[in-house]
Amino acid sequence: MKIKVLVLSALIAVNAVSGFAEGDASKYEAVKDHLKKIAAEYPDRAKPFKLGLSDSGDYIEGLKIGDGPVRDLIVATHHGNEYGSTEVAKAMASSLAVDPIKGRAVYVIPVLNISGYNSVRRNETAAGRSVDPNRDYPGPCTTGSPFRLKSTKALADFIEKENIVASATLHTYMPAVLYPWGISTQDTATPYDDIFIQLSQAAVVESNYKYGNSTQMLYPADGTFEDYAYWKTGAWSLLFEVGYTHSPNSDAVAELVRVNVPGLRRFIEQSPRERAERHAFTGKCDRSMKALDRHDE
Ligand SMILES: [Zn+2]
Repeated sequence: MKIKVLVLSALIAVNAVSGFAEGDASKYEAVKDHLKKIAAEYPDRAKPFKLGLSDSGDYIEGLKIGDGPVRDLIVATHHGNEYGSTEVAKAMASSLAVDPIKGRAVYVIPVLNISGYNSVRRNETAAGRSVDPNRDYPGPCTTGSPFRLKSTKALADFIEKENIVASATLHTYMPAVLYPWGISTQDTATPYDDIFIQLSQAAVVESNYKYGNSTQMLYPADGTFEDYAYWKTGAWSLLFEVGYTHSPNSDAVAELVRVNVPGLRRFIEQSPRERAERHAFTGKCDRSMKALDRHDE
């Protein structure tokens, strides 16, 4: 009984925190201002778009940069505390506006998880619940119900609707560039490992980050965006785990930008112009591996 009371008061405390936890709204406002400035300076090539409404009540905003027929995606900050990834996406938007990629249009979304970003928390809040956005997608080995968040559903709908071909999702930290499958399985190979390796190598020229299969190099994680994008659509999907910490100082942020912006550009330039055809998962899920998901990257 005493334990029940304790658990109950802990839950009330968490709810009280999340009620107030939309954090410092000026933080996301500053990201939107950055996008607005780029759009104002380069109106011919950088077009603002809204991904959709998030559970925070804010619109998730981004820029479409370039006008090529092949459409690609850079999305950061599924995890709200990983602000180093936000800064890389902002810098990438600036770089693409100065020099768009020929034949391609890149959608850049610097922050997916707005309430987490404003309050420097990994998870996103929805109806008083705290949800890990990068475990909120369907996948070949998931068990729970997906899309508890509006943000993840909006992104999933978007990549289908816009026919996204290459997709980079940015997180901190490891550092590494990782490719599918990153799920609970021993059968981690895809029919395209050679292409994923080439694209990863192109992405790490400046950073010298390690690259490889996500399950083998990081840990299995079911319900992530990077696996969803490849599994559901055949998008060429890479996970960038940038830098060495979740709390980089300004020098470390500058270094994240310096070593990752050229690699992200090369990844998109060199990605095939059509999605992968054989993107179904044909291996076996291994439920015993679920315990290996550390939920910290
Ligand atoms: Zn993360």
